[in-house]
Amino acid sequence: MKNGLRKGCESLADREKNEGSRTTRQRQAILEAFTDDQVHLSAEEVFLLVRASQPAISLGTVYRNLDLLTRQGALQQFVMADGTRKYERASEHHHHLVCIGCGQAENIPECPLDQRIRGYTRESRFQVVRHSFEVYGYCVGCQGQVTTTGSGGKKH
Ligand SMILES: [Zn+2]
Ligand SMILES: [Zn+2]
Ligand SMILES: [Zn+2]
Repeated sequence: MKNGLRKGCESLADREKNEGSRTTRQRQAILEAFTDDQVHLSAEEVFLLVRASQPAISLGTVYRNLDLLTRQGALQQFVMADGTRKYERASEHHHHLVCIGCGQAENIPECPLDQRIRGYTRESRFQVVRHSFEVYGYCVGCQGQVTTTGSGGKKH
């Protein structure tokens, strides 16, 4: 009886070890999906890229890992105009110009808010952990299309 129990424990440990390394591989592949050419990626985009090397991965696993990597500080996220989250490797604090038309996001390298926030929070002694803000609009390529594909035009 004791043997059986121990054997069970061992195989459970082995299974956990195997799952552990698979998890590590998947997490590594997710991080590697972010390159200089693909700075900002949604979960679906990561899923499509990672599936090439990790065919067994599911979209749910990608979501869970992106979430975990964000909490661990390896990734940071921001929100697109339609509510979709985009992820990127954690880097210098920055903001984004987000195109509503094509979903491209351009970095705003400096932070125009830090000083002001410090001013606002000095008195209330609110402890700031982080802040985010995105600027939504249309990139040069999308500007022309917006006016021609308007929703029928407003008549007064
Ligand atoms: Zn655009
Ligand atoms: Zn960015
Ligand atoms: Zn900022």
